[in-house]
Amino acid sequence: MSTLEKFRAISPAEFFYRNKEIAGFSNPARALYQSVRELLENALDATDAHGILPNIEVSIDRDTSKPVVYRITVKDNGIGIPEKYIPEAFGRVLFSSKYVLRQTRGLFGLGAKMIVLYGQITVGEPAEIVSATMGSRKVYSYRISIDVKENKPIILQRGVWPNTTGWHGTIVKIAVEGDWGRAKQKILDYVRRTAIVTPYANLVLRTPDEEIYTYPRVTDKLPPPPRETHPHPHGIDIEMLKIMAGETEEQTLLDFISNEFQGVGRVIAERFLRDYGFKLDKNPKELSKEELEAMAKALKEFGEFRKPRAEHLSPIGADLVKIGLNSILKPEFVDAITLKPVVYEGHAVIVEVGLAYGGAIEPSDEPQLLRFANKIPLLYDEKSDVSWKVVSENIDWSYYEIAFPAPIAILTHICGTKIPYKGVGKESVAEVPVIEHALEEGVRHVARSLKLYLTRKQREEEYMRKAITIIKYIPEVSSALTSFLSSNPEPVDPKAIEDGLFELVKKRYGEHIKELPHPRSIVLSVE
Ligand code: ADP
Ligand code: MG
Repeated sequence: MSTLEKFRAISPAEFFYRNKEIAGFSNPARALYQSVRELLENALDATDAHGILPNIEVSIDRDTSKPVVYRITVKDNGIGIPEKYIPEAFGRVLFSSKYVLRQTRGLFGLGAKMIVLYGQITVGEPAEIVSATMGSRKVYSYRISIDVKENKPIILQRGVWPNTTGWHGTIVKIAVEGDWGRAKQKILDYVRRTAIVTPYANLVLRTPDEEIYTYPRVTDKLPPPPRETHPHPHGIDIEMLKIMAGETEEQTLLDFISNEFQGVGRVIAERFLRDYGFKLDKNPKELSKEELEAMAKALKEFGEFRKPRAEHLSPIGADLVKIGLNSILKPEFVDAITLKPVVYEGHAVIVEVGLAYGGAIEPSDEPQLLRFANKIPLLYDEKSDVSWKVVSENIDWSYYEIAFPAPIAILTHICGTKIPYKGVGKESVAEVPVIEHALEEGVRHVARSLKLYLTRKQREEEYMRKAITIIKYIPEVSSALTSFLSSNPEPVDPKAIEDGLFELVKKRYGEHIKELPHPRSIVLSVE
């Protein structure tokens, strides 16, 4: 038996080829779901993050000759992909335009490539990409697969057409092995939940069952697009500082610290450098290993930097959350809140919470939880998510007079340039204390307003019951009074008596109840 081990390195493409399940491609059902999801996320990143009202069509077609093969086509009206980047965007694992500090759905530079890889392993067809950037006179098309060993695209076909209609956007078509039967519910759920937080989008989903689900745009209001930002000094580590110092064009430490970090003005930068004994005019590229280590530590501990700012983030906003919940869940009551930003490892994070109650919502034994991170619905691993902990452990619902089963849905949204996901499949968020506290504060806020609403409604119903008991008798009383007064020389109008009595009841209960039924309308309904 040989005791000699064979050593070799593998490429990122080979790594993910061997470990597909890490990225959510563990079986045909999950892979189909993950593929639809990654393509839809790319389409949304290419639209709403750039101020474009999204029009997105997702089609899933079953191959009639091979029933386990599905062709997924996603078409968007986004910014498109510059021609020279199309092959790598779909053919080189860990190639992305999102490796900057900006709030996006995509994060790892992995999604599109995982689908291409998975498709090529299971079906063997290349991916097709058609794209035109804004203002481009041409539309480009590519057929691509991935060279796994080298981690680079193999271009099988390239086409160019004149762009006669001024179209911009991207169409991606990839064939994968899937299991529609088992993925269906999750995919429908995913698209529906996406529609809740993008009420400004037109979403269409065509399924292999020839069903069409449409979620039409219900508002033209877009959240503010996310903007790129600099890292905050408190989120810096040695490696990051080394890269930044190596890449900067600034010639002095003073310029470097004041221009390439968030929350640092010139005065503060100067004080920081003097306090820790760094020369203001030293070239950042000349920092020694020891100096880099010392500076990274100092950046983390210096207390005078401004707090990380959140204006570059793109929360959904309480109004849009309410519009989305109303349009998709059709509840009786909704409320939402966007909380003040908190700081997680030097990154600003904004938490939003929405609540929908009653109406078309089915009662359930626990609150129905709708989790989102950077506007992506999170469907799997619910029980290991921080939002689950807050909603099911930290909150005592009986305090808000909610007894289960109850028709209640809680929406949580966490957005930021860094989300503590528990894995690259982006399915659950870790229990980071600042995020947990913000979520809890948000849930308490909306739960309080629900309690207020329910108490008011209950009181109103009570008054209504009392008022109706009295109103019921008005016609009888007024006809009795009319006959009692029939000997009176002045003729009496029974309707006037009715109206008079009704006015009395309105005076007594009217301020608690929006509209009381008129006595003549109620007799019929009481009988
Ligand atoms: P990620 O989304 O994490 O960056 P992907 O592999 O999903 O990684 O996509 C790689 C890159 O391809 C994206 O960063 C983006 O620049 C580009 N891209 C993918 N899909 C689209 C699309 N529909 N419209 C515009 N650009 C896209
Ligand atoms: Mg992506």
